Amino acid sequence: MQIIPISLPTPFYIGPVNVYLIREDPITLIDTGPKTKEAHEALRAALRAERLRVADIRRIVLTHAHEDHCGLSRTLRDEAKDAEILVHPWETGHRAGRLEYEGTRALLVRAGLPEEEIEAMRKLYESVRVYADGLAKDEHGELADDEELMFATGSLRVVHTPGHTPGSCSLVREANRTIIAGDCVLKRITPNPLLAVDPVDSSKRYPSLAEYLVSLARLRSYAPTLVYGGHGEAVTDFEELFNRYLQSIRERQKDVIRLVTKEGATAWEIALEMFPQATDVHRFLAVSEAIAHLDLAHSEGKIAVELKGEREIYLKARSN
Ligand SMILES: [Zn+2]
Ligand SMILES: [Zn+2]
Repeated sequence: MQIIPISLPTPFYIGPVNVYLIREDPITLIDTGPKTKEAHEALRAALRAERLRVADIRRIVLTHAHEDHCGLSRTLRDEAKDAEILVHPWETGHRAGRLEYEGTRALLVRAGLPEEEIEAMRKLYESVRVYADGLAKDEHGELADDEELMFATGSLRVVHTPGHTPGSCSLVREANRTIIAGDCVLKRITPNPLLAVDPVDSSKRYPSLAEYLVSLARLRSYAPTLVYGGHGEAVTDFEELFNRYLQSIRERQKDVIRLVTKEGATAWEIALEMFPQATDVHRFLAVSEAIAHLDLAHSEGKIAVELKGEREIYLKARSN
């Protein structure tokens, strides 16, 4: 089985996105690129080079539902006369619109964001969501952890690898220990578990970083020789990347704990201290990063948290 990487342009800060073509029956595209003319045209050209047309695609598998990865799925499905779209059920929140979702708003309030900041994030999100079509529940099938996607000469195993988003999935080719990992593994970027509503209990925050660490360990258990990420080059030394990620998580946690004062601070205050220069979407990434590390430190008993009105205040642990 041949996995063919295709790089597509995106209008986002992160740069081009990688999608993957499996050129055997049923012809499958893993991720689609954003809904832009440029990405659509680049994909067409890449398929042409493989002597294929969009109409030949029978199956579209989404590693997760961020606009740069899923944006063209409906367009391609329609053009390919009802190719099947598969995505993990926990991506529904993203698909329906991250910040529209009342739950996400509640999480931002709890994190201590002022009203105007939440409004700015909503506006920004509105400008990003035009790069993807929403999909109704009956317009896609579901990816299940551990299921095998069958092809003419082999299979890919679906491994649920939450963290970046709750429904992120990786696809593992066990025969040669090759993995397509979406945004779970990126060569030049440190991991970014994003703030998300818990898909099982929408009154809760998803423990993104704790789950992300489990996902990394799970991928490592396959002893991968090649990992294709959602952006940038493939990773050939997963062990080195795994250790680098763990080290950067440990260092970040120390920084975050240091910023928790005696009087206490909200996640937003800590995020601004960590990333004073952050603008636009980077402010959402900043608060996501702060919360991810605060949650992990709290679950490990290293800091305390108290609810004050609607806001959570992080405090030094009593034993410190
Ligand atoms: Zn993503
Ligand atoms: Zn991405």
